[in-house]
Amino acid sequence: MTTRTNLSDSNPPRKITAMKIESKLPDVGMTIFSVMTKLANDNNAINLSQGFPDFDVPAELVALVEKYMRTGHNQYAPMQGVLMLREKIAKKAQELYGATYDPATEITVTSGATEALFAAITAVVQPGDEVIVFEPAYDSYVPTIRLNGGVPVYVKLKFPDYHIDWDEIRAAISSKTKLLILNFPHNPTGAVLSKEDISELKQITQNSNLLMISDEVYEHIVFDGYQHESLCRYPELALRSFVINSFGKTYHATGWKIGYCLAPAPFSKEFQKIHQFLTFASNTPVQLAYAEFMENKAVFVNLSRFYQDKRDKFLSFLKGSRLKVLPCRGTYFQMLDYSLISGESDVEFSKLMTVEHGVASIPLSVFYHQNDDHKVLRFCFAKRDETLKKAAEQISAIQA
Ligand code: PMP
Ligand code: GLN
Repeated sequence: MTTRTNLSDSNPPRKITAMKIESKLPDVGMTIFSVMTKLANDNNAINLSQGFPDFDVPAELVALVEKYMRTGHNQYAPMQGVLMLREKIAKKAQELYGATYDPATEITVTSGATEALFAAITAVVQPGDEVIVFEPAYDSYVPTIRLNGGVPVYVKLKFPDYHIDWDEIRAAISSKTKLLILNFPHNPTGAVLSKEDISELKQITQNSNLLMISDEVYEHIVFDGYQHESLCRYPELALRSFVINSFGKTYHATGWKIGYCLAPAPFSKEFQKIHQFLTFASNTPVQLAYAEFMENKAVFVNLSRFYQDKRDKFLSFLKGSRLKVLPCRGTYFQMLDYSLISGESDVEFSKLMTVEHGVASIPLSVFYHQNDDHKVLRFCFAKRDETLKKAAEQISAIQA
């Protein structure tokens, strides 16, 4: 028989007044993704805010994780990642982009792209270095730059298709510019890089010391005949780049948190110095399962079609609404302009839409350091058709 000690008898609860620490990110609160997901859950709203599927991981992939767990693969993976997975990643980069990365020295498996971004930025940025960031910007880049003493330099993508103005990039580059962070297909706007962008990038970087981080987590989600322009494809760009990816988006498993970084050996060496103290290694059975499952190329080959169909269904369900549709060439996010319905700020309108109309989204202004408000919201369409239909009905019912 076990004896239960009633802790409250001997140790009555007491309130601890914590000591103060000086915040390194005083102006940063909880991420908008956590805030909106909580608001959606609290209000029983359909959650099209944080980007994650509401359908399941392929059963075969789950069975593979189980297989590796049951057969004793439950201890630390190698720091760089399971070798079989690094080999499969190298093979895929070769087949898709003609890129050669050595699994021994140029590939690191991480705990999601988030960790890879943190490690790459930390490996490169010294105090006072300037880093060019496109706005709207995914939320993790700037805090990480600042934690490393870097200075973000913002260049806005151009409304309404969010293309890059390369003259603005040229003007933003100074003698202090160390790094350019790219993210295409782009979260939140769905913009993709064109061949012309790649030529500009080559011109701007040649004969310079500029480094690049290319966040390509949506590489397999590109629509309307556009092609994903991975920096891996271009040796003169790849030699100065960390290319970062995530299995979460491709295999509908955002909660498994496995990503990776492709980078030339000297870059990977510095990257791994950080990675080994961030997490050391990532989940072993999941890495092994991905390595085996990656043989099934149909999953990523068909992903663009799968999500284009979701985007088109969502838009067709929205036909009756007064929201204006912005271009979406990739990712699983659709931006909608609500200016015909309301003049409220995007933050207020997204809250109102969640609480009163039961559909949560992300206000675009949170992706700008000065909170530019274009009356645009981001909706995640990685959802079952019935979820999209119901959400669209509720959105269409909103009166001005
Ligand atoms: N970069 C972008 C652009 C993303 O949208 C996300 C997540 N959705 C990440 C990085 C982080 O990926 P992970 O969940 O693998 O950490
Ligand atoms: N990347 C996801 C999005 O853009 C969210 C990731 C997170 O919650 N940190 O919605």
